[in-house]
Amino acid sequence: MKPTPDKYSLIIIGGGIVGLSTAITWSKNRDSSQYPVLLLEKQPIVGGMVTSFKRKGFIFDTAQLVPDPLELFKYLEIDCELIKFKNYFSRIFLVNGNNATEIRIPSGYNEFREMLLDRYPSQKKSINRFFDYSKKMFDELQYLKLEPTLFDLLFILFKCPKTVFNSGRTFSEYFRKFGFSDPELSEIFDVFAAFSGLPSERAVAMMTVAAMNTSLLGPWRPTKGFIHLPHAMKRKALDLGCEIRTRANVKQIVVENGIATGVRLETGEFIKSDTIVTTIDTKTALFNLIGRDVLHEINPKYTEKADQVNMSPSSMIISLGLDDYIDLDSLGLNCGYNVITTGKGTFERLFKAFDNGEYILDDKCFHTAVICPSLITGGKPVIIIRVVPMPIGNWKLLRETDYSLYTKKKEEVADFYIKQIERYLIPDLSKHIIVRDIASPATFERYSGSPSGSNYDMSPYPDNFGLKRLPTRTPVKGLFQPKFSHGIWPSMQAGIQVVDMILGGEIMNGYSRYREKIPAPVIRD
Ligand SMILES: Cc1cc2nc3c(=O)[nH]c(=O)nc-3n(C[C@H](O)[C@H](O)[C@H](O)COP(=O)(O)OP(=O)(O)OC[C@H]3O[C@@H](n4cnc5c(N)ncnc54)[C@H](O)[C@@H]3O)c2cc1C
Repeated sequence: MKPTPDKYSLIIIGGGIVGLSTAITWSKNRDSSQYPVLLLEKQPIVGGMVTSFKRKGFIFDTAQLVPDPLELFKYLEIDCELIKFKNYFSRIFLVNGNNATEIRIPSGYNEFREMLLDRYPSQKKSINRFFDYSKKMFDELQYLKLEPTLFDLLFILFKCPKTVFNSGRTFSEYFRKFGFSDPELSEIFDVFAAFSGLPSERAVAMMTVAAMNTSLLGPWRPTKGFIHLPHAMKRKALDLGCEIRTRANVKQIVVENGIATGVRLETGEFIKSDTIVTTIDTKTALFNLIGRDVLHEINPKYTEKADQVNMSPSSMIISLGLDDYIDLDSLGLNCGYNVITTGKGTFERLFKAFDNGEYILDDKCFHTAVICPSLITGGKPVIIIRVVPMPIGNWKLLRETDYSLYTKKKEEVADFYIKQIERYLIPDLSKHIIVRDIASPATFERYSGSPSGSNYDMSPYPDNFGLKRLPTRTPVKGLFQPKFSHGIWPSMQAGIQVVDMILGGEIMNGYSRYREKIPAPVIRD
């Protein structure tokens, strides 16, 4: 056994995808025998929100797809076999009374454009302008930096005019610029905004454009289930010499005179390090593990900014194990997401209820995504129903105080959505169900430790995005919080970004997006 160092060069709090990516990136760039790194995870296994579970022989996953993963998997040297979704990236079912109009979104940016041109010839000019402009704006991302200098900012102004111009715009404001007149098109793009976690009236334009660009490249999933992803990442981190301790619940980030000096575990053990990366819920880390007063004394502005951060919503996940007498393939389920929505501002209405801690069960106002992983990876037939947004509300309290009411309420939500899916997508679905497992926001609160059960960390509102985002470098010297998340791909990016920041830009010159070919550093005289 390796001797335990008196002091670590880096401590990482949390063993989800961000924590594991941070651990691998550090160990790839520093010899861990000289610069020891320790990852602390409070659960018995790593992975956080990316996990799998078994019910009566059926295997279910929490996460469902990873968009555009290959470059990052290669950099992080993750040995986990992936399989690409076939056919469509998604199918959208726009509900209109008892019928639904089906719109098939192919994988690939150009394929999507072609499909739209074909379906909406009268919108040709707007479609072409939108796609050309959005592609250029997405490409500008490669020049953005996390901590730009004044010189970088001037360079960005010159090199990234579209990003700068649209930085304060929501996706719906952005979309209106292109003069679309067919309402069905805004319904389609509203679904893309929903993939970025917010309605188009709220999501910052760049987030939706980026989600669209990366997702359309084709979604993938681990062949043997999502739990194999964090396991493979853990193996890599261990191979590279990183130390990982599970069942290690961090209770305090110790700060002396504005400087991080180490962490204290629930057991009372103190572990020293001058550099700490927290990958757990940001507000919990800042306000509970450090303390609001301590942070406020160091930097009131940062504290207020952290206070104002809106966390992304939680969800309800209904996992169904089905019998063999259902032909999901013939129903077209061999694709990415199948979105069923009542459209016409539905997602915004659901969010208004969410803002008040409520949810709506109304067959004139619902939005859900159905996915069928077993058709991609094989195995017993399963389908997953995602219901977003779902507030934490009193789910946690109910779970702890009245389990039978908690179960009853979950069943009510599941029954409602199964009914809608039977109506528009899978006739007689309920007759084929053998197992049903319903995860509530209280489940995700347990997986991640986030009090809101948030699935995607901070919400991408325009006032917390890009340069306005809560900075990764906290005002506590030596403490970093790279959490912005929004899925597995951004979580991996976040891990690489934060190590790059700690190492003074050694890996990607301070750019915010890892690419195999990082743009050359800006030359300064
Ligand atoms: C139901 C669901 C479906 C999703 N589907 C997709 C999808 O299809 N595609 C996609 O890209 N993304 C998806 N996501 C989002 C994706 O899973 C997350 O963005 C990503 O996993 C976040 O990783 P993380 O490391 O930031 O956080 P987490 O996974 O929350 O990891 C944080 C870790 O910190 C640990 N921790 C917390 N407190 C402490 C403490 N005090 N001490 C020590 N350890 C602590 C937790 O136990 C946890 O392991 C989904 C999320 C959910 C919940």
